[in-house]
Amino acid sequence: MSNVNSFWSPRVAVLEPYVPGEQPRIAKLVKLNTNENPFGPAPHVLEAIMAAASDGLERYPDPDSMALREAIAARYGLDSSQVFVGNGSDEVLAHAFFAFFQQAEPLLIPDVTYSFYRVYAQLYGIACELQPVDAGLRIDVPTMAVRAATDCGGIVIANPNAPTGTGLPLRDIQRLLEACTRRVVLVDEAYVDFGGESALPLIERHPNLLVVQTLSKSRSLAGLRVGFACAQPHLIDALQRVKNSFNSYPIDRLASAGAIAALADEAWFAHTRHEVMDIREGLALQLEDLGFEILPSQSNFLFVRHPAHDAMALASALRARAVLVRHFDEPRITQYLRISIGTREQCGLLVDALSDILG
Ligand code: PMP
Repeated sequence: MSNVNSFWSPRVAVLEPYVPGEQPRIAKLVKLNTNENPFGPAPHVLEAIMAAASDGLERYPDPDSMALREAIAARYGLDSSQVFVGNGSDEVLAHAFFAFFQQAEPLLIPDVTYSFYRVYAQLYGIACELQPVDAGLRIDVPTMAVRAATDCGGIVIANPNAPTGTGLPLRDIQRLLEACTRRVVLVDEAYVDFGGESALPLIERHPNLLVVQTLSKSRSLAGLRVGFACAQPHLIDALQRVKNSFNSYPIDRLASAGAIAALADEAWFAHTRHEVMDIREGLALQLEDLGFEILPSQSNFLFVRHPAHDAMALASALRARAVLVRHFDEPRITQYLRISIGTREQCGLLVDALSDILG
């Protein structure tokens, strides 16, 4: 029998793919492992999707997604030429890595950050240089800025960071932009709507700034797969070139209609994101009472550790009680748990389960 792996290209054999949080089908699961937003999308989203489903599914969607790009541009005070959309921000990030970072110099990314960045770098053969974080897992911005001022292939930073949840003030992003002017600085703002400071206002002044956001978190549309990037038009053009060399139609008709409806509902957006932040603060206090140490969070999750209990053991004890949280078995963060903010009821069930486990 031939070796089945001989069918693989040499590139595939060496890949180390990203492993997303599990999506199990367990009844009455308290699912706090993938930073989904428990409140669901704005009420008109479903109506808009149903209307789109009953009209025109036999035809391809607009390859340029102009209606959606215009809606995003209008929401953020930009022009549609400054907006790129993709099938989730993960796809936007992948295209950005391909478009901007295949440089001779290494790409700078924080040592503790969204682990997909390293996967994209590997996929596209981009050399990375990990930048130190301090004891509180905060990005060491001064050190990174000094490094960026010498030859670097660009910077990727999540703000607020994942999986720590901690945000950087805008002046730190500014500092990195001032240090790295020759290459692109990508700021991934997947969680920015939960208390972070957005770098969108800096786009006008910085021709090398790319800001990436998603509708998966603060708009509660993880299942629809819509993400976007904002930048000056020359960077958007590069992303369009990559996208048009990969998939002409990443945004389907339903996704476009749902996303536009979500962006139109400011009241739902404001209400649900404030609810998430409020629940987060309450949960942090309850977890502190149980002895957990908690990193300051400006996101829809908490990154916590217990000085007396092993994180992996806690995650599996919670799982046995049908409560899912995320544990990363990675250097420096193996004693942490990442807990997504659920409804008040779900967070209550989490606290009950933890109280039970900790005795
Ligand atoms: N960036 C960060 C920092 C994330 O945590 C995630 C969610 N896993 C994403 C991007 C991707 O989100 P999506 O593809 O759903 O837009």
